[in-house]
Amino acid sequence: MWKNNGQTWRATLVMLTLLSSVYLSGCQQDTSTKAMVSLAGTTVPSQTSELASEGKEIPHSPDIPQGPIPEQKNGTPPETVPPITDQTPTVLVDESDNNPAPTPPPALPQTPIHPYYDLSGTPPSAPGLAMRVRIFNEEPPKIAYLTFDDGPYPETTPRILKILQDEGVKATFFVLGKQVESYPNLLKAEYDQGEGIGNHSYSHNYHLLYRSPEAFIAEIKQTEELIFKTIGIRPRIVRAPGGTQGHFHVNYYNALDAADYLIYDWNVSSGDAAASHVPANQLVRNIESQVPGRTRIVILMHDAGAKVTTVDALPRIIQYLKQQGYAFGVLTPKVAPVLFPGGFHG
Ligand SMILES: [Zn+2]
Repeated sequence: MWKNNGQTWRATLVMLTLLSSVYLSGCQQDTSTKAMVSLAGTTVPSQTSELASEGKEIPHSPDIPQGPIPEQKNGTPPETVPPITDQTPTVLVDESDNNPAPTPPPALPQTPIHPYYDLSGTPPSAPGLAMRVRIFNEEPPKIAYLTFDDGPYPETTPRILKILQDEGVKATFFVLGKQVESYPNLLKAEYDQGEGIGNHSYSHNYHLLYRSPEAFIAEIKQTEELIFKTIGIRPRIVRAPGGTQGHFHVNYYNALDAADYLIYDWNVSSGDAAASHVPANQLVRNIESQVPGRTRIVILMHDAGAKVTTVDALPRIIQYLKQQGYAFGVLTPKVAPVLFPGGFHG
């Protein structure tokens, strides 16, 4: 009886062992699938930290605030950034009038900060931030966006346009309303040559611009009217004088998004605003030191009457970028913005 029972138990044990090993092997497979999924999810944080480190390497220049660059972003643990799938709405919408800005969510202290548009169009996220989903164009594997701020000026704009034409590349001009007022024909020349046109405020006066989001937008609108009067377009792309770092907080982004503007900082600086006269060789070296390792670069330069060394350096800068295999693009609302993350931190 006992012996028979023992045999029955042994048989049952063998059966159980076999069943559980089959079951467990299924579980292991399941676990490895989950591991692959979570690995795929880490592509977002790794991109984020790469971009964040780009922001940190921006050299000092008067056009870049000298305050602390957002170190805290570098310390953000990857797992605090939710995977794309958690943020991407099922319906992608364009930046048309049918796509109003969402209402800002309540500012929860634990909301993870994700300060960049993904190339897939997922908007940045941070407490109190509400920016619309965008659709961006596909880009070549390496692309450079040359940008010139503060113009137009008769001393520099025609020379820059000539170089761009000779080299067969395009750039984007973030123009000032007061300069457009003085030199409308130079804005026309930029536009007629197919260069990108962006809005850089009317006055460039930090004291006036950064009193409030409303004050900032008012100058953007003022400049937009001047641009519209001159070339008949209303650019949606904006660059904040001095960049957003140290100037913007969340409400600036919300106000700009609500008015359907996109804001562009930069991730490579020529350093031409670091002093009144920076030798052309130095400008070329500055760019050569920041470009390696980056696949999409937005380069800050100035189109300002006194910045003649920028024009002198421009052919060499373009040659260098061509040698490195970069295509040249024009900024439009279809190009994912490069943003400093500082304004999302409160
Ligand atoms: Zn400027």
